[in-house]
Amino acid sequence: MAEYLISGETSYVPVDGLTAPQLLSNGQGLTYNDFLLLPGSIDFTASEVDLTSALTKGITLKTPLVSSPMDTVTEADMAIGMALMGGIGFIHNNCTPEYQAAQVRKVKKYEQGFIQNPITLGPNATVREVFNVKSTHGFSGIPITEDGSANGKLLGLVTSRDVDFLKPKDYSTPISEVMTPLSDLITAYTSVTLAEANDIVSKSKKGKLPIVNENNELVSLIARTDLRKNRDFPLASKDKNKQLLCGAAISTKEDDKIRLELLVEAGVDVIVLDSSQGNSVFQVNMVKYIKQRYPGLQTVGGNVVTAAQAKTLIDAGVDALRVGMGSGSICITQEVMAVGRAQATAVFKVSEYARRFGVPVIADGGMQNVGHLIKALSLGASTVMMGSLLAATTESPGEYFYSDGVRLKKYRGMGSAEVLKQQTCMDRYYSEKGSPIIAQGVSGTVQDKGSVHTFLPYLTAGIQHGCQDVGSKSLSRLRAMMYSGELKFERRSASAQVEGGVHGLYSYEKAFM
Ligand code: GDP
Ligand code: GDP
Ligand code: 5GP
Repeated sequence: MAEYLISGETSYVPVDGLTAPQLLSNGQGLTYNDFLLLPGSIDFTASEVDLTSALTKGITLKTPLVSSPMDTVTEADMAIGMALMGGIGFIHNNCTPEYQAAQVRKVKKYEQGFIQNPITLGPNATVREVFNVKSTHGFSGIPITEDGSANGKLLGLVTSRDVDFLKPKDYSTPISEVMTPLSDLITAYTSVTLAEANDIVSKSKKGKLPIVNENNELVSLIARTDLRKNRDFPLASKDKNKQLLCGAAISTKEDDKIRLELLVEAGVDVIVLDSSQGNSVFQVNMVKYIKQRYPGLQTVGGNVVTAAQAKTLIDAGVDALRVGMGSGSICITQEVMAVGRAQATAVFKVSEYARRFGVPVIADGGMQNVGHLIKALSLGASTVMMGSLLAATTESPGEYFYSDGVRLKKYRGMGSAEVLKQQTCMDRYYSEKGSPIIAQGVSGTVQDKGSVHTFLPYLTAGIQHGCQDVGSKSLSRLRAMMYSGELKFERRSASAQVEGGVHGLYSYEKAFM
């Protein structure tokens, strides 16, 4: 009230809200529902908020979203969808090493700049083989070389248009009779830059541009489709060859060194060591092995929830930490093992320690809605890893089915009894031979969410709106505001949580998109 103000104090604003350390320092573990962010001041639009964030020391993403290495969440389709939208997917390891490597290869092959080692055929191969390539690899633009090899002398090119209308009786025709010969092809020399090659493709209206050396030997190939993909997905996470980034999980077992080798051959960019308690000598040894054998390969350690656990893995050389123990939606670790930590506290404590070493944190598990993503990022996480939020999207593995008229897909914990009983390859929740299985997860179902191509833009727009409300124009600014104490938080009582949800209505419909 004006009458209580002493002259000259009209600009005084009382301190309001808690800093993150104040919120999280009283020894009681908090989770995302236990607090809110207090609003700041806005002088920009939500779409201006920059969501660029580090996944690891060496990989930065334009969207801080990561899909979990679970067999009902991430195989190639999910990893492609995540990377196209600016995030990344980690292919699960509950499969043979060969299957997992093939999934990685599919992601890496999805989009490219110069296609190195393109699939080729020789002139005597038959039309039937073109169809075989199409069904195995998904494309039919095939350079034809003298000896059929990827760097043989170029003789011509066959595309779907050359074989589309042939009848089965013609399938044994040699390709040399249906291909476009070299004399009618537009080609470019090795000295061409990617931008120049793209320019030639877009002006030539051709689907493919073979790149050759001075002896007319094939060097690489440019596909028009890739220009379209590049235009349609401006945020896509790509490596220096313009191939999508892809992650994969391995365990810390000795046998998985072979799996690792296959994944590296397939082009994997980042490995996550999948373990529910990462502070182990097994994980330290594996991190050291990876760093010594493949120094450039980004390695995520975890899971951890305390600074002491984080220290072991940071000292071993990890490039990022995965944080969470017992917070996942399918998870019963805290109930069964009596070990774990409330997720908001875990994310803050580990991030606050790891940032001193420049090690980014992936907040893993317990994300039930877009608000939880914002809260994880506001407590220091650089990216967020999701299981249940991405389960039952079009891109997640498994078939849809109906139950009581609701369209569902299966979603299960990687430590659920169902997985452990059939377990062949992965050992996140490893039981020693002869001892009883101790399940740390459950299996269930999740309702259809449509495609990640519509769902992820909803999540990113939500994060941008949250950042706007607190007055942060980027995720790095959000973290800086939190560490400087400018970002304020408040605990929520049980009744505040009820008030924050829908209440007092006879009925309502919850539509998020
Ligand atoms: P096509 O016309 O049937 O060959 O198919 P598109 O050109 O529309 O798409 C081919 C897609 O597969 C592009 O995104 C390529 O980058 C990708 N790709 C990956 N490896 C190869 C390869 O060896 N040959 C060809 N033609 N495409 C490849
Ligand atoms: P940009 O932001 O995508 O343009 O990234 P760069 O500046 O690194 O791109 C250099 C050139 O590569 C430009 O001509 C891009 O259009 C092109 N480019 C980017 N991604 C792809 C891709 O996946 N395939 C092909 N063929 N070209 C690409
Ligand atoms: P969600 O996003 O569904 O809440 O949690 C996904 C995360 O739960 C995964 O990324 C992984 O860290 C964890 N998780 C997956 N399967 C299991 C399991 O069976 N038990 C436990 N304790 N955690 C699991």
